[in-house]
Amino acid sequence: MRRLICGAMALLMLSSPLPAMAWGFYGHRLINRMAVFLLPPEMMILYKPQQGFLMEHAVDPDKRRYIVKEEGPRHYMDMDHYQPWDSIPASWSKAIEKYGEDSLYKHGIAPWWIQIMMGRLTRAFEKKDKAAILKLSADLGHYIADIHVPLHASSNHNGQHTGQNGIHGFWESRIPELFAEEEFDFFIGKANYLPSVSAMAWRVIRESAKAADTVLSEEKRLNGMFAQDGKYAFEERNGLLVRQYSSAYSKIYHRQLRGMVERRMRASIQMVANCWYTAWVNAGQPDLRSLAPLPFTPADEREWENMNQQWKEGAVKGRSCTN
Ligand SMILES: [Zn+2]
Repeated sequence: MRRLICGAMALLMLSSPLPAMAWGFYGHRLINRMAVFLLPPEMMILYKPQQGFLMEHAVDPDKRRYIVKEEGPRHYMDMDHYQPWDSIPASWSKAIEKYGEDSLYKHGIAPWWIQIMMGRLTRAFEKKDKAAILKLSADLGHYIADIHVPLHASSNHNGQHTGQNGIHGFWESRIPELFAEEEFDFFIGKANYLPSVSAMAWRVIRESAKAADTVLSEEKRLNGMFAQDGKYAFEERNGLLVRQYSSAYSKIYHRQLRGMVERRMRASIQMVANCWYTAWVNAGQPDLRSLAPLPFTPADEREWENMNQQWKEGAVKGRSCTN
């Protein structure tokens, strides 16, 4: 019986495209890692030795979706639900007044959530709380990267309304995994102070929403002219054969998008560094050399262990990128 179930599961893995994790684990880790290089020396002293931590925990917010129901809506916002965009209040309390909390959570709250996380990170710098600075920096990097993904700003987030199921992971996982290392330019510059993180977050999510049409229509166009038996290929991944968009199909799609994935990834890296830097400046530029050497507690370790367990075994609470 057990063997039968395992067989059925393997078949499932074989017939469905890889589940998506918003920029994929690869993309989120890369974005947090590269953002460190943009920081000034006064911050580098803390962030550079912790680059491994910031990478490893870049995906905690996605894992947390398996534990906390409220987590999912922090990663996206269905901008097509709102018209005109100018009428969306930038302030969270005004948004609650206007739409009500249930409706807001239903359609995603990412730009507001970034504001809340910025406040928390700034307070952590003020308190010189090393563990909180690192955990919040890793988390904030994740949410900022997510709002740069066009399909995180559309209710048709996995092409489910247009017969393009799987496109979410195609854009944000498959393309970076195939092309980032060889082709993307990560020479970006340095972190800049943001006078208004809120204004920046709203600008980014609007850009993403505008790009969502291109992401969907270009794939539809390619699908129409590409031989269907060459669209997918089986590749080995963690010891399992998985159905993926083929390299040939991915390459043409990437070309049709004219560097969009690279541009959004570079913009993500820049904004992550900008926000870390801005929180530190707003906290009065505390001296980061004098922080305690051992920041994490057994409670932190237990939380991460539980999160990893749930993520491996459980199901996403709320919207997932695959449905
Ligand atoms: Zn996410």
